[in-house]
Amino acid sequence: MKKADIGIVGGGIAGLTAAIHLASCGLKVLLFEKEKYPHHKVCGEYLSREILPYLKSLNISLESLQPKIIDQLLYSTPSGKTIKTDLKSGGFGISRYALDNYLYEKAKEQNVDIIHQTVTNTTFENEFFEIRTFENQAFPTKIVLGAFGKRSGLDKKLNRQFIEKKSGWLAVKAHYKLDDYPNNRVSLHNFKGGYCGLSKTETDSVNVCYLASYESFKNYKSIDSYKEEVLCRNPQLKTFFHEAVPLFETDLSIAQISFEKKSLVEDHILMLGDAAGLIHPLCGNGMAMAFHSAKLASESILKYYNPNAFSRTDIEKEYIKKWDQQFKSRMKIGSALQKILLKPFLAEASQNIIKIIPSLLPFIIAKTHGKPVI
Ligand SMILES: Cc1cc2nc3c(=O)[nH]c(=O)nc-3n(C[C@H](O)[C@H](O)[C@H](O)COP(=O)(O)OP(=O)(O)OC[C@H]3O[C@@H](n4cnc5c(N)ncnc54)[C@H](O)[C@@H]3O)c2cc1C
Repeated sequence: MKKADIGIVGGGIAGLTAAIHLASCGLKVLLFEKEKYPHHKVCGEYLSREILPYLKSLNISLESLQPKIIDQLLYSTPSGKTIKTDLKSGGFGISRYALDNYLYEKAKEQNVDIIHQTVTNTTFENEFFEIRTFENQAFPTKIVLGAFGKRSGLDKKLNRQFIEKKSGWLAVKAHYKLDDYPNNRVSLHNFKGGYCGLSKTETDSVNVCYLASYESFKNYKSIDSYKEEVLCRNPQLKTFFHEAVPLFETDLSIAQISFEKKSLVEDHILMLGDAAGLIHPLCGNGMAMAFHSAKLASESILKYYNPNAFSRTDIEKEYIKKWDQQFKSRMKIGSALQKILLKPFLAEASQNIIKIIPSLLPFIIAKTHGKPVI
């Protein structure tokens, strides 16, 4: 088989974007995705606007998907006290069902070879990789990008340290119908043990996605009883769940969500998106970071091919440096904010402080986002 230039494991936002970027520059790209498109994914579905200039440069026009334009944040404490603020940079409400499928179509237009198989192993020898799939096929490539998300069998295969540590988080998502919910609003409602995000998508449905600690979840028999008895103690969420109509037959859920630090390069594989590190979801910045990390990796890789001035070591060094410059501090701020939000007394106290100094909230939000990505 002819060796591909690039093999990408995972066809979510990070993998598909890197595929589009690199293939549009003339490289032969193989992308491996275990699921068929389109499919729903657990995600808050609020996309921060900072990423628009980069998407435009790749000829990716989100406007064509008619996302909701979001410019307002409503936050509530566990007791239901609310605070509202304008979102200066703002964002979009867009379902992963539509977004990932759109990127998939764009990748096909760029002649990316998309292989619907699960990658089970990668090996690196004599400057080449071999990507092996569950179907026992082997694909040789020069470079491999790991874009396989928060947690994958490959993390274990690669002996990544974070996988050994117990993770205390799970997440649930579903779409609801509630016409009165404002198109331009993203809400973040705190409850004891977690928080829940609400925003409308291009279909007019409201996406509801929450992160919950196992500690708070383990005493309840089902997602429904947890929702009724824990989330609904916040009066804002109680009103929402009692008025809104569920559109999914069953909620989607994922477990073992890890916010541990991850290595950016593992056995010469450059890690992108969540495979490189997951920012706390309350920041609403994970998707923008996935797009942005694809840009950083693609730019370094292109220097390797053209003008052939970069070695493999140079790619790895530059990618790590740029990733740290862009994302390290917002990951730390996200982690600190999550700690505050999950202590009800701190959440209530911080809301009182924000009432006295209203400019504090937009300031904090700006710190969890990047500047426009050009
Ligand atoms: C509860 C929660 C809420 C969130 N809300 C928001 C939000 O509102 N806004 C925001 O910007 N971010 C949010 N995020 C973060 C966001 O969802 C992620 O940062 C983003 O999806 C990362 O994209 P990715 O491409 O790295 O990974 P993914 O989108 O997860 O893609 C990884 C892909 O790899 C595939 N894959 C995995 N293993 C293999 C394998 N071995 N072989 C082949 N394919 C494989 C998977 O099927 C998947 O399609 C949230 C996260 C959580 C947990």
